[in-house]
Amino acid sequence: QQVASAKQTRLSTPNANPLGLPANPSLDVTTFISSQPHRGTTAFIDAATGHSLSFSDLWRAVDRVAECLHHDVGIRRGDVVLILSPNSIYIPIVCLSVMSLGAVVTTANTLNTAGEISRQIADSNPTLAFTTVQLASKLPVGISIVLTEEERVEPTRGVVGAVSEMMKKEPRGKRVRDRVHQDDTAVMLYSSGTTGPSKVHGTFICTVPMFHTYGLLTFAMASVAIGSTVVILKRFELNDMMAAVEKYKATTLLLVPPVLVTMVNEADSIKAKYDLSSLKTVRCGGAPLSKEVTEGFLEKYPTVNIFQAYALTESNGGGAFIDTVEDSRRFGTSGPLTSDVEARIVDPHTGRFLGINQTGELWLKGPTIAKGYFKNQEATNETINAEGWLKTGDLCYIYEDGFVFAVDRLKELIKYKGYQVPPAELESLLITHPDILDAAVIPFPDKEAGQYPMAYVTRKVESNLSEKQVIEFISKQVAPYKKIRKVAFINSIPKTASGKTLRKDLIKLATSKL
Ligand code: AMP
Repeated sequence: QQVASAKQTRLSTPNANPLGLPANPSLDVTTFISSQPHRGTTAFIDAATGHSLSFSDLWRAVDRVAECLHHDVGIRRGDVVLILSPNSIYIPIVCLSVMSLGAVVTTANTLNTAGEISRQIADSNPTLAFTTVQLASKLPVGISIVLTEEERVEPTRGVVGAVSEMMKKEPRGKRVRDRVHQDDTAVMLYSSGTTGPSKVHGTFICTVPMFHTYGLLTFAMASVAIGSTVVILKRFELNDMMAAVEKYKATTLLLVPPVLVTMVNEADSIKAKYDLSSLKTVRCGGAPLSKEVTEGFLEKYPTVNIFQAYALTESNGGGAFIDTVEDSRRFGTSGPLTSDVEARIVDPHTGRFLGINQTGELWLKGPTIAKGYFKNQEATNETINAEGWLKTGDLCYIYEDGFVFAVDRLKELIKYKGYQVPPAELESLLITHPDILDAAVIPFPDKEAGQYPMAYVTRKVESNLSEKQVIEFISKQVAPYKKIRKVAFINSIPKTASGKTLRKDLIKLATSKL
């Protein structure tokens, strides 16, 4: 496992019900989603083109694509298919087609560099990649690709077809369905560390990335099952999002805390430009939401409710989830546990189980918990114990009425605008600099981004390496969200007797001056 030290590791997810809807142990995820009764008509709308897909179009397309993947490309049960694409109406089609064959979906962050993506591909070993013309150049030569644009683009190399063409083909009679079991692997998502959707029918705007569990689970699976309409934006852009709310009379936005901060700061100009009267709900997850931001938001948008949720890639939507207006007025809580998960609060030092109102590490157990880190038994054993409890790495307490409050992060993970930044990955890059003797990377608090990576660096004797040089050295090698944005020089990095970096001490040092 090439980046096991950074715990950047592939996570496999059971092919089970991720929706918080009644479990049916005999069904795999695609069959389960397609068997949900709902009265929705339009499944997806592409905000940029206005192109829409009805639910019947969607399932026809899923069958057609599955058929082509099976007959023409030879995709079989257990094969891995990569999706490297900005948000697109095609992602749910590809995702559901691949899963219906018993093959495995994996995704990659479109912001990642070619090097970062190649390392991921070497690990996940996909048979085929769905991507766009712009992103195809980030893929290593030799991998078969399918372009997901609508315009016909001449293939550069190894292109086996295009989804739109697959959808036009006549069905070949027998529906392809491999025997898929609920505990087969369905999805492998990359996570650096260790949501249930509303059952209310509405129109959602999707701006959260579909390469992340938040976007993929909600908009390629859950929204399909519950019959909601999803307006898909390629990526988050504030004005495009607001224009889509107005145009499609959207009821619900799924956001991360930094977007709420921007919505508060720019509330006056947003409200002057767009009619947001349809908007009823903002769901917020991925990072902690402060009381200050919540209050600011409710003051500026008094008719909109914020429903917080807590989950992690490893829990596939399992976690905590607010679903009533009354509960949404309680600050700092992510709500009661989602259906199907059990929780424990455990003292991280002694391993003792703690009680109500006591802060410790949150452990979760239930059918949505990932099967483990792919090809990394050591990381799996560290994170999911023999009884199936997932150690979330988050310090939480559970109030007497069962509401979960996330207090702090025990694990090393840094979250920049909701994106995961593994400190160990940046540290291993830093120490390759000829002037750097040792380095540690910590989260530095930021009002807008939540946190950003800050480096403590020990220079070699006589080096006069500057903060700017360190920042530039890293920014050339990583995706923009992983950039180091602050550097301090230190004589030596504090360590435990066993040589582990004392990040908590450095965090204290960095924030003591605030
Ligand atoms: P990811 O796997 O990228 O979804 O990251 C999961 C991590 O994000 C969790 O383990 C938490 O540290 C953090 N997180 C997600 N949702 C919340 C929330 N509502 N409040 C506090 N932290 C959160």
